Amino acid sequence: MEKTTEWATALWELKNYLLFLKDSGYSEIPAENIPVEAAEPLPRKAAKEPFEAKKTKPVETPVSAPGPMKERVPEPGAGNAAKLLEEIRREIGDCTRCKLSQGRTNIVFGSGNPNARLVFVGEGPGADEDAQGLPFVGRAGKKLTEIIEKGMGLSRERDTYICNIVKCRPPGNRDPEPDEIAACKPFLIKQLQAINPKVVVALGKPAASTLLERPVPITRERGTWHEFKGTKLMLTFHPAYLLRFYTVENRRNVLEDMKKALSALRDDEPDQGSH
Ligand code: SF4
Repeated sequence: MEKTTEWATALWELKNYLLFLKDSGYSEIPAENIPVEAAEPLPRKAAKEPFEAKKTKPVETPVSAPGPMKERVPEPGAGNAAKLLEEIRREIGDCTRCKLSQGRTNIVFGSGNPNARLVFVGEGPGADEDAQGLPFVGRAGKKLTEIIEKGMGLSRERDTYICNIVKCRPPGNRDPEPDEIAACKPFLIKQLQAINPKVVVALGKPAASTLLERPVPITRERGTWHEFKGTKLMLTFHPAYLLRFYTVENRRNVLEDMKKALSALRDDEPDQGSH
């Protein structure tokens, strides 16, 4: 067989194999077969393991093996977060406050539990999010769900709220521009005030830079604690970055960052104490 025919056959087989993996539910191919070390277990109550490792899929080692987070009870006077979020969404309306309105299909407001103690902030909707009107539903979204559910042992819907710094898709998935961020940021601030979480996690440089109001070198500052209007703020990589540079080091770093976020949430839980 000629060399070119051999290559064409090999590529065709590789393509079929990748499609087979995709159809089998793989969201990525681990670059190295080295398991991420489990972080030190956090204190937990005896509870069911957060997920059953499926034998057919690559397994992310959980940061810890925490039990389900407690449902958050709104603090007295904190108001009804769900109602406040509805009001903010109404205020946004069919927004044309910035040029991102011109290319969007849907405004992607946010999703999750309005009483969540943990909020993730990304940069902006992509094509899938724009089409569905929901944040983090594409490939990066699946990775984020995996981090939350397999890595942290939490439920995405029950334990977190997820939103972005801009609510409309930047064309070609470029970073949001300063005028667009300036137009949309007030809504993000109102969302965070309504939810009043214990921990906010900024996903990637644009989100971190927007919340901290300075250019954030994310590779240097990820894993460090900051403060956003009185709320603890953790910085980590965007899941899209993690997918692009899927190294053991990056995976370990993100899991370490999430361990810190979990730790802060646990520290903040009311002491159940002994009776
Ligand atoms: S990105 Fe924000 S400010 Fe701009 S049009 Fe969309 S909702 Fe309005």
